[in-house]
Parts: sequence; structure tokens; C-alpha cells
Amino acid sequence: MMLRSEIKAVEQMYINGSWVTAIGEATRKVVNPANNEVIAIVTEGDVEDAALAIKAARDAFDQGVWPDMHARDRANLLNKIADRLEERVAEFARLETLNCGKPLREAEYDITDAVNQFRYYAGLTTKPHGVTYDVPDQIQAMVVREPIGVVSQIIPWNYPIVMAAQKIAPAIAAGCTVVIKPAETTPLTLIRLFEIIDEVGCPPGVLNLVMGSGATVGHEMARSPLVDKVAFTGGTETGIKIMKTAAETIKKVGLELGGKSPNIVFADADFETAVDYALFGIFANQGQVCSAGSRLLLEESLVEKFIPEIVRRAKLIEVGPGLVETSEMGPLISERQMQRVLEYVEIGKAEGATLLCGGYRIMDNGLEHGNFVAPTIFGDTTPEMRIVQEEIFGPVLAIQTFRDEAEAIALANGTKYGLAGAVFTSDGAKAQRVIRKLRAGITWINAYHPTFNEAPWGGYKQSGIGRELGTYGFEEYLETKQINISLHTQPSGWFRN
Ligand code: NAD
Repeated sequence: MMLRSEIKAVEQMYINGSWVTAIGEATRKVVNPANNEVIAIVTEGDVEDAALAIKAARDAFDQGVWPDMHARDRANLLNKIADRLEERVAEFARLETLNCGKPLREAEYDITDAVNQFRYYAGLTTKPHGVTYDVPDQIQAMVVREPIGVVSQIIPWNYPIVMAAQKIAPAIAAGCTVVIKPAETTPLTLIRLFEIIDEVGCPPGVLNLVMGSGATVGHEMARSPLVDKVAFTGGTETGIKIMKTAAETIKKVGLELGGKSPNIVFADADFETAVDYALFGIFANQGQVCSAGSRLLLEESLVEKFIPEIVRRAKLIEVGPGLVETSEMGPLISERQMQRVLEYVEIGKAEGATLLCGGYRIMDNGLEHGNFVAPTIFGDTTPEMRIVQEEIFGPVLAIQTFRDEAEAIALANGTKYGLAGAVFTSDGAKAQRVIRKLRAGITWINAYHPTFNEAPWGGYKQSGIGRELGTYGFEEYLETKQINISLHTQPSGWFRN
């Protein structure tokens, strides 16, 4: 645990190449969700601070500091960030766990993932982009790709460092300049990442970090006419607000939003594998995963065998502080989030679903000061129940049952979301048929959760707009320009006089 003496005075923001305190001198306490003790005090920015950061990013872009720098030099900087981060994986992982609660092994994976993202986009920076066309009228037509400009990036608390890297790396690889805001609860690893950004000599104004609330700083980042694009990851309700605000100046908008993803298990699936991934799908990161398999769709003939086994194993998951090596599931991010999850448990019961396990805050073994909720599973649900339709964002699984393939697909697609989904079956053709019918952007056959930086990440329906990661994520930060070059410099002669 972090000692009080380890708390630095006040953690600062990074604007225009300098560490600064918010103009209004407000601060915010950051707590460890495993015991709700204060682990840091951070400066709390407001609209004016966001405006300063946006202006710095605008100037850095318009004066060409970053977009005109040779792609190779931009790639070098990205690689240097990756190298420095890689040297500090253990330290960053510990801090991520301290701030978010997730088990250390998950945090270690996250930091390594972030390192890989910087490397991946360093590589893409120097790859060719653009085409030429063979057109008539003595013209050589070409298309070039250019950075979109100033980008606001607003991220959530469930994967702070991964979300930051996933947004920063492609944006600066493309030549954009950035203002980024972490979630109010989880700024710590992002502040450390900016120490690295400062060390490697990133030009002032290219990358700016602002802390503060969504309603003030976040809103200004979506509103300011100096911003060309908003890239947001968070809840669907917030996404709607951001899209409306950004619409006033026709900004490009990238939205990575919530989900209520179906995990479909047919009776012919490999039993052990399906149970294992059903647990991993919902209980990894305490269920605070946008792509969590929060609905388990079981073929009816499987119910009698599957449900007792998944309940038995859910009860065995060791819940505890993320820094304790044996912990398999940590606390929820905040007391507020825990209350929200527990309210959904009450809603589920009131709706008539059967609580099969969990559904309570863990109040013993020293966990009573943290936000620990036991792995929770509901059976006997109906499709219209709120626990089936709404994103709970916690360790709560709703089981649905189906008779045949058609019903499985209809249930799977029966929410407003379309982020992720999986199918478990030993019938290869059926797996393909079902997965192709899922209205979702991230899918698996006989697995749940593994995704890679090389492939696009994003949702159908109300789970979002656009894609992150891979070449698709790079494209989102590029404008497209056609250039028509006359091969014979002479008047067109269109008008007679
Ligand atoms: P949230 O929407 O409450 O907040 C996300 C960020 O938006 C925070 O930084 C917050 O300060 C900011 N914000 C809030 N109101 C704002 C406003 N009016 N204008 C601008 N910014 C504003 O989400 P959260 O509770 O931090 O995260 C959980 C949500 O994120 C879940 O719904 C989850 O599904 C989603 N999520 C999606 C993905 C994905 O890739 N699709 C990944 C992770 C999380």
C-alpha cells in the first residue's frame, strides 16, 4: 500500500510542455478502491485550463511543429516512449492496481499492451499512405493523407493506461496534436506516462494532459471550435452528450461506448472451455469491461449441467485487493459504482430473476473498507428485464436460454448495444453462421476477450462510431485530400472571351 508520506504534494497537469497547477487551484483526492484511502492529491482543472491546453495543441499543429516533422522522427519519439514505459512496467502496473483495483497480473498485461501500442503505431508512421489515379484531361490525380489536426481525447477509468495509449499513439503517429483527459478517479498512470513524454523530448503543445470533471473540462474539449476531432471512450449516455456538443462545429467524432454482449453456448460446445470463458468473459476486471460477456445464452438442453458448474466456480473466485498475489478479482472502482451494481441486483430480484450466487458486498476478511462485490449470477431472466438490457458494468452475469440457432441470434441481437459477442460450439459451420449474424464489432468463436492491437476495435449500433486500433484506428486520425496536377500548364479555354 502507498504510505501517506509517499503522496507527492499535488500531482500536476501537463500543458504546452510544462507541469502546471490548475488556474483555480482546486484539487481532487484520488483513492485506492481496495480500502478507499487517499493515495494522491491531483490538481483539478476547469474550463480555462482546458482552453489553455487546446490553444497550445492548436498552435503546435498550426505552426507545423509536429505535423511537419519527418515521419521517421515522430516514429523515433513513439519508440522512445515505448522503451521508457517498458523499463517501468512493474512500477506502472502497481500504480494502476493501486488506483483501479484490478489484480496485478491484469495491470501488468495492460502496461505491456500500452507498450505494444506505441511500438505498433511507431511502425505505421513511416508506412506509405496515399494513392495516384490515372485520369483524363492531362491531369495527374493523387490522394494524400494528412493529420486531422487538434484532437480531444476523453477516457474512462476501467483501463486508464490502455485507453490512453490506444488514443495517443495513433493520433501522434498521424501527426495530430492532442489534449487528453483521464477519468476523475484514475489519473495516476497517465500522469506518469506524461513524465515519460516530457523526458523523451516531445515538442511543447503536441501532447497535453488536463485533469478535471467531464461536465467542465470534458465539455470544453468537445465544444471548443479550435478542436477538429473528439475521440471518446465511456458510457453511451455521455457519448450522446459529446456528440451533440461536437455537432455545433461539425467535429469528427469517434465513440467507443458501452455494451451488453452475448456469450452464446451451444450444447455441442467443449464444456470446460465454455464454462471457463463464461467466467472470464464476465468477471475479468470485476466485470468493468465494455466488451464483457454480461449475458450468457445457454442452449436449453445444457442448462441443467452448465448452471450448477458455473455457479460453483464463480463462488470459488478469490476476491481481494489487487496487490495481493492470490486475488483473482479486485474491488469496483468506487463506492458509487458499487452502489450502482448493488442497485441492479435489487432490480433483478424485483423483476423476478433468480439470484444464483453473489449479489452482495463483501464485508469480511478486512475487505469491508473497499468496494468488493461477490461474483453474481442471475438465472430465470426474460429478455425485457433491465438486468438483461442495461449495462451494469460490474460482476453481474444474466443467463438467458434458447431452443435453437434462430432464437439464439434473436436474443443475442436483442439490445440497443452491439459491441462484442461470442459463440461456443464444435460445429464449425454453425459457429460461422451465428457469428456472421451477430450485430457486433468484436467477436470470438470458442474464446472470449482475447483481442489484439493489430485488429480494429469498436461497436455496432449504440456501442459506438468508428474504430480504434490497427490500421483502422490510424485512419481515424487522418484527413483525405485529392491533389490534381496539370501535366500541361495552359489555359482551359472554357470561356470564349
Ligand atoms: P463516463 O461516460 O462516465 O466517463 C468517461 C469519461 O467521460 C470521463 O473522463 C468523464 O470525465 C468524461 N465525461 C463525463 N461527462 C462528460 C461530458 N458531458 N462531456 C465530456 N466528457 C465527459 O464513463 P465511465 O463511467 O468512466 O466508464 C464506463 C463506461 O465506459 C462504460 O459504459 C463502458 O462500457 C465504457 N467503455 C467503453 C469502451 C469501448 O471501447 N467501447 C472501453 C472502456 C469503457
